[in-house]
Amino acid sequence: MDFDMGKRAGDLRRELRALVDEHVPEHFLGAFTDDPADLETAQQFCRTLAERNLLCMAWPEEFGGGGASVWEQTVVREEMWAHHEPRGAQYMGVNWVGPIIMRHGTEEQQRRHLPLIAAGEVIWCQGFSEPEAGSDLASLRTYARPDGDGWLVSGQKIWTSYATMAQWCFLLARTSRVGEGATQKKQQGLTIFLVPMDDPAITVRPIGTMLGPHHLNEVFFDDLRVTEADVLGTVDQGWSIVQDVMSFERVGIARYARCERLLAAAPGVLGQRWESLPGELRGRWIRMLTHCRRARLLAYRVVELQSSGRIAPGDAAAYRIAVTKLDQDSAEVLSDIAAEVRHDDHRAAWFLGEVEDHWRYSQASTVSSGSIEMQRILLSRAMLSAGANR
Ligand SMILES: Cc1cc2nc3c(=O)[nH]c(=O)nc-3n(C[C@H](O)[C@H](O)[C@H](O)COP(=O)(O)OP(=O)(O)OC[C@H]3O[C@@H](n4cnc5c(N)ncnc54)[C@H](O)[C@@H]3O)c2cc1C
Repeated sequence: MDFDMGKRAGDLRRELRALVDEHVPEHFLGAFTDDPADLETAQQFCRTLAERNLLCMAWPEEFGGGGASVWEQTVVREEMWAHHEPRGAQYMGVNWVGPIIMRHGTEEQQRRHLPLIAAGEVIWCQGFSEPEAGSDLASLRTYARPDGDGWLVSGQKIWTSYATMAQWCFLLARTSRVGEGATQKKQQGLTIFLVPMDDPAITVRPIGTMLGPHHLNEVFFDDLRVTEADVLGTVDQGWSIVQDVMSFERVGIARYARCERLLAAAPGVLGQRWESLPGELRGRWIRMLTHCRRARLLAYRVVELQSSGRIAPGDAAAYRIAVTKLDQDSAEVLSDIAAEVRHDDHRAAWFLGEVEDHWRYSQASTVSSGSIEMQRILLSRAMLSAGANR
């Protein structure tokens, strides 16, 4: 494995931090708050990155990218997550929607969607989970029934992040029922459709959660008309694309960079009081910094395997387990440290706000993108089959 971030990595980090300082308000807690100005900050920041060729750095130039290495893109991802993801929901378009359309889309789909993502102009949402189909995604019931030269899609999605602000949905629906034609297993007969969210057949209902008012939603499809032109890949063969999506998605969120930034900030925020913290708490703080390093190395391993086309589900699962556990464990350590903050200044206010937000988000991290129990099952299967083949 070669984890060399390249000669430019240090300069790139400095450039990104300077852009964050210049364009993102200090107390920005992400794009999904009650304040519409936060969404506007994120949208504007994406355009700023795009103008400097920093948004889709590692995309090939023919698709509007910068042709940079996956390691430079990793630097961008780390700096963004460390600074509260000022790209807002657009990180999904950069991390997985775009790369998946490059791999599986028609020329027309690539021409239509990729330049908009690369320009920082479009938000996508992912319509996979349903009320009875989360971990067992292939059991989903949203059905596309044949109608003339296309289909009519009806059903319900749930936990759809950013659906209120998205212009496009990456939708998974059933096109053939099990037992019909060649469809013998529930993983067969599923199809991906790329659909515009402004279609009147789509209704979005926000779900209030502690993640912020504009994060999670229910999405209803009531005879949404789609045609072959909206199909990504092959009809009935969407499951293999879903696997591809998962491996990109599961490594796309560099939460370890955020944990590390907050942990590293703690001694400075506490000042002299840091020295009198119980040894047990400081010991947990050090352990968390070590766990940040572990999650970072597992992320780099996945980046390396992905770029050489050797990625297997167990690899991404190992990283997800490490980073989501880190998220939650570091949230507890940071909360205990925050309880020791005694002064009431600008820096303390910043730290307390960040720690609270980090704690709230971390509660959901072992569920989103596949629960930690499912990740453990994937990893165990991979290890057992590797053991059996030895
Ligand atoms: C913050 C957040 C954002 C999300 N964003 C999106 C999104 O944008 N688009 C989208 O489509 N979905 C999204 N999701 C949904 C997410 O993918 C699902 O919540 C997740 O896959 C779990 O599915 P579920 O909620 O139906 O839980 P269930 O599948 O019902 O699982 C409930 C519990 O049972 C456990 N469990 C289930 N089956 C097994 C098993 N076989 N063995 C052991 N344990 C098991 C699970 O691990 C879990 O702890 C999001 C979720 C969250 C929390």
